[in-house]
Amino acid sequence: MMNCGSDKVIYMDNNATTRIAPEVLEVMMPFLQDCYGNPSSMHTFGGQVGQVVEQARAQIAELLGADPEEIVFTSCGTESDSTAILSALQSQPENRHIVTTRVEHPAVKNLCETLDMLTGHKHRVTRLTVEADGTLDLAAYQEALTEDTAIVSVMWANNETGVLFPVEEMAALAKERGILFHTDAVQAVGKIPINLRESQIDFLSLSGHKLHAPKGVGVLYVRKGTPYVPFLHGGHQEHGRRGGTENVASIVGLGRACQLAGEMMEEENTRVRALRDKLEHGLMSSIPKSLLNGHAEDRLPNTSNISFEYVEGEAILLHMNQHGICASSGSACTSGSLEPSHVLRAMGVPFTAAHGSIRFSLSIYNTEEEVDFVLEKMPKIIADLRAMSPFWEG
Ligand SMILES: *Cc1c(COP(=O)(O)O)cnc(C)c1O
Repeated sequence: MMNCGSDKVIYMDNNATTRIAPEVLEVMMPFLQDCYGNPSSMHTFGGQVGQVVEQARAQIAELLGADPEEIVFTSCGTESDSTAILSALQSQPENRHIVTTRVEHPAVKNLCETLDMLTGHKHRVTRLTVEADGTLDLAAYQEALTEDTAIVSVMWANNETGVLFPVEEMAALAKERGILFHTDAVQAVGKIPINLRESQIDFLSLSGHKLHAPKGVGVLYVRKGTPYVPFLHGGHQEHGRRGGTENVASIVGLGRACQLAGEMMEEENTRVRALRDKLEHGLMSSIPKSLLNGHAEDRLPNTSNISFEYVEGEAILLHMNQHGICASSGSACTSGSLEPSHVLRAMGVPFTAAHGSIRFSLSIYNTEEEVDFVLEKMPKIIADLRAMSPFWEG
């Protein structure tokens, strides 16, 4: 058996993935062992499994303020995003325009770059830029909507900065013009209250592994009456909306995770937010030339993205790793050159700062002792790296 040494780890990378909650694992186990029936089978052995899938569907609908029939199970957030966007294009072949942003997750960003190949049609994509604090200009958004816009796809919360977009307001503006609206809410679900019944959102994506359920299960919410074309054609699972035998254990886990997320929302927005704020204020006051990336208030309660000028994010991460601290950097090492993230570039974060950005993303499992430990270690890590930097003049 592999030992990940997770007991020694200070995990502050919850926007990348989360641990499976013990309560979630517990309800999953029977479906990985004795209850292995196929939910589509006619016999009771399988049919009972079908019932727990429906129970999970209801638990997820409850968290979203949706109806169970509006929930379609998928394999991940990425599949949900692809399904929504490709469905809108296929159900309205005459509409070849898409509105999105420059700061979307690769699941939407890279899909929009390959649409012509996937659909055999030419598409125009408008990518809205963001302000320096990562927020969107609603006037520019309204101007971008045209006669032939098929769909707007805008994330609810940014995975790198945590910045929230006013997607409910944006969906209402799209609806006035008869345009479909999709939101990638993978980072928002479980962290902020969502009530789809009071919104005009047509499609919403979520992913299990970002809210303490397993990897490899997701959901696409499809509003009742919204035109829909499946992404995976196959059996009649999900009422013909998504072929493929259901990932039963993970679906059951996701249902329980959504129930827990509803119960923990208050803690997420009080205790976790306070820990995040303590970490953020502590780092920024003890480390000179540190800058917050993203709007200070319009943000997820768990995320803090801070740039430490004149040092490389990846070098910082290596040093943090030696103390067992897990986080992410805003630069991806592509073909040997360090490219700052597309999100920080869209925000116009200066070059010297974009390279040294670190994303801390907390969860209900983080403790104040962990925050204190990180606050104790970080100033020396940054100071040591700066001492070696040719650009740092103290
Ligand atoms: C993680 C993430 C995804 C992708 O979800 P997967 O289940 O890993 O495919 C999509 N969008 C956002 C904002 C994410 O954070």
